[in-house]
Amino acid sequence: MAKEKSIKSIEDLPGIGPTTAEKLKASGFDSLDSIAVAVPSDLADATGMSLEAAKKAVEAAKQATTLEFSSASEVYERRKVLGRISTGAASLDEILGGGVEANGITEVYGKFASGKTQLGFQLCVNVQLPVGKGGLDGGVLFIDTEGTFRPERIEAIAKAAELDTAKALDNISVVRAVSSDQQILAIERADKTIKEKNIKLVVVDSLMSLFRSEYPGRGALGERQQKLNAHIHKLQSLADSHGLAVYITNQVMDNPAILFGDPTTPVGGNIVAHAATTRLYMRKSKEEKRIVRLVDSPSMPEAEAVIKITPNGIRD
Ligand code: ATP
Ligand code: MG
Repeated sequence: MAKEKSIKSIEDLPGIGPTTAEKLKASGFDSLDSIAVAVPSDLADATGMSLEAAKKAVEAAKQATTLEFSSASEVYERRKVLGRISTGAASLDEILGGGVEANGITEVYGKFASGKTQLGFQLCVNVQLPVGKGGLDGGVLFIDTEGTFRPERIEAIAKAAELDTAKALDNISVVRAVSSDQQILAIERADKTIKEKNIKLVVVDSLMSLFRSEYPGRGALGERQQKLNAHIHKLQSLADSHGLAVYITNQVMDNPAILFGDPTTPVGGNIVAHAATTRLYMRKSKEEKRIVRLVDSPSMPEAEAVIKITPNGIRD
């Protein structure tokens, strides 16, 4: 009997050559898992392969994928070693349970000048610190959708953290996205850079600005949310598969339905709300002070921390 070749990637599937594999990946079928759960006719449509061949590929992908079941205590052990990035302020780290966590998406929303970008810069520096010293000993992928990335701020914050400023800047790969398609592509194609540069933090600053300007009005909402959903899904899968932290900033609007209390609401709707593992709301206080409210977290209670934006970065 012929020995079966073990299937480890899409290219190993029966009937899938390099060209078909590329077409599959371009259509979002970028893993064995995604093919295992695919509808064969979708694969056929995406690649031009026959329905029969597509059925065989799906069947083979099903056989090849394994699902591991873990006991809760195993999950607990793994979570104890989950990496965290310090925010620079002990009070904020504390309400977060030790800092911004790897393997998840942390969203910060707030009005202009509330400090969302500045906190992002601090994380860009701190992630480079050694594990156990507030960092993950890794690099950064920074998707700048608003043209507000400032290397001079990174330099100042890195200097204050006593890092080699040239190295700190080299460890940050910046993509300036001017359309939502560029933003999506930057994340779709990030795997290679993430591996090569040991990236442990992906920043998207901001998540929604391009989507909002390109899809105005109710009519475009369905298409926008569909694209956004896939984009966020990819961010989550990067966080899971590379053990990295995703930090996204988000704009706000006044929700007219909230008559009493603070009407400030993050944009992006339920899709963003569900996707963010941890949500923070930042608002201005006196002078350099900012109030950061933990709005949603899988394991920590609602709480507030007061931080400062200083020339050296985020501090208590
Ligand atoms: P937006 O929604 O407009 O993007 P944001 O929430 O990203 O706003 P930031 O750009 O993070 O806001 O914060 C801007 C604020 O950070 C400034 O108003 C200023 O108070 C503070 N800031 C910026 N640079 C410095 C610096 N070098 N030293 C001290 N504070 C600074
Ligand atoms: Mg900003």
